[in-house]
Amino acid sequence: MNLPATQTELWDDFIDEIKCSIPRQSFLTWFGPMRLTAINNGELTVQVPSQFYYDWIEEHYSEYINSALDKTFGDGFKLSYSILERGTREVLKLGPAKSPYVAGQKPPKDSHLNSRYTFDNFIEGDSNSFAKAGALAVAEAPGKTRFNPMVIFGGVGLGKTHLIQAIGNFAVQNKTSRRAIYASSEKFTFDFITSVRENKTTDFSNLYRSTDILLVDDVQFLEGKERTQMEFFHTFNTLYNAGKQVVLTMDCPPSELKRTEARLISRYQCGLVVDIQPPDYETRVAILQKRADEDSLFLGEDVIETIAANITSNVRELEGALIRLMAHASITGQDIDIFITKRLLRDVLKSKFSKVSVERIQEAVSEWVDIPSDLLRGNSRKKEIARARQISMYLCDELTNLTLKSIGSHFGNRDHSTVIHAVTVAKKTLADNDNLRREVMEIRRKLETSF
Ligand code: ADP
Ligand code: MG
Repeated sequence: MNLPATQTELWDDFIDEIKCSIPRQSFLTWFGPMRLTAINNGELTVQVPSQFYYDWIEEHYSEYINSALDKTFGDGFKLSYSILERGTREVLKLGPAKSPYVAGQKPPKDSHLNSRYTFDNFIEGDSNSFAKAGALAVAEAPGKTRFNPMVIFGGVGLGKTHLIQAIGNFAVQNKTSRRAIYASSEKFTFDFITSVRENKTTDFSNLYRSTDILLVDDVQFLEGKERTQMEFFHTFNTLYNAGKQVVLTMDCPPSELKRTEARLISRYQCGLVVDIQPPDYETRVAILQKRADEDSLFLGEDVIETIAANITSNVRELEGALIRLMAHASITGQDIDIFITKRLLRDVLKSKFSKVSVERIQEAVSEWVDIPSDLLRGNSRKKEIARARQISMYLCDELTNLTLKSIGSHFGNRDHSTVIHAVTVAKKTLADNDNLRREVMEIRRKLETSF
């Protein structure tokens, strides 16, 4: 349908607004397929590909949507959704965006807290348990522990924003404090600059200095902004001296902030400084399992293990992978198996896969079962040899980028249907036998980490 030009322009602004506030991959996945179909009486109707999209968007992005709507269309505008059922034209109509909050639990709007981040849905592992324990202690008694300020540092996508937001949400919900304000460093800077420009610096100070908990995310971005940094220093001191809680995150230890005044750095260090490390394998598996469960996506252990074994750098990338699988499942209605996973995640899995050779796999398996590796390539039907061969092919399928045909060529020129059969049997054998599966996973882990 044709909408008036002004409305489509506003819609473009709205989309841009969302694009700037969420990760690119998520934006492409969830907002890429969204189409505006009508605007009536303050209600924008958009079309999305499936019920799953609607649920996901509502659950994860309604706060961004509402704030982007406020900014672009103005107060009071709402989104409602129509769903494009597969195979048919349009239609199930769903009501306007609902609030994701349970009544009474909604964080106040100006707190900028996102209720999605809680301690409950933060998975603990060796890499982050100290940070989580510290954060929880702070949330239970803000300003009353020696953990003031609290600084959480670590690389991207490891859960710093999640934890700092969880502190605010916990404190507000459990009423351990009256007010909490979350601000990214960019937001803090932006608010400060705007207040200077509009001669409203008193409003700015009143806002940030009247809170019981101040949560400032990614403080490294204040570097090099002298006036903002000075203002931040005063805000910090005022709150600190009044016994209020300050929590900060940064991407490196405070001592490594290069362009930050020494007096500020020493302030940062006088409470609790904790780091978050990249999650270990078990934590990655736990995070994937929990996320998949939350979104009712069924993933086999082999799928979860493959993702966890290959995406090792941070949690955001793990989520990105899951999101792609979910979008696929929801659009096609297909269950996600290991083959689909490998296809969909080829770009993120590839670099690892391509490094393991068939020969290395055959050697590793032959060492494990103590059978010369040429028997794996030969025709013997002896049970243990056949099983080792199947498992080798399964590992080749998992760990290399080779086609089934080319895998077959490394196993005495077997054809691709023989490889499919072998892989299927191997998977079943592994699924039925925990000990065996554990041993094979160990071989796999060694192969993946041995270069
Ligand atoms: P950072 O701020 O350190 O860059 P985020 O807090 O934004 O990272 O985390 C990236 C994503 O990963 C978020 O969606 C967050 O909810 C999720 N996440 C990170 N760590 C965990 C964890 N331990 N358990 C569950 N989800 C996590
Ligand atoms: Mg962050």
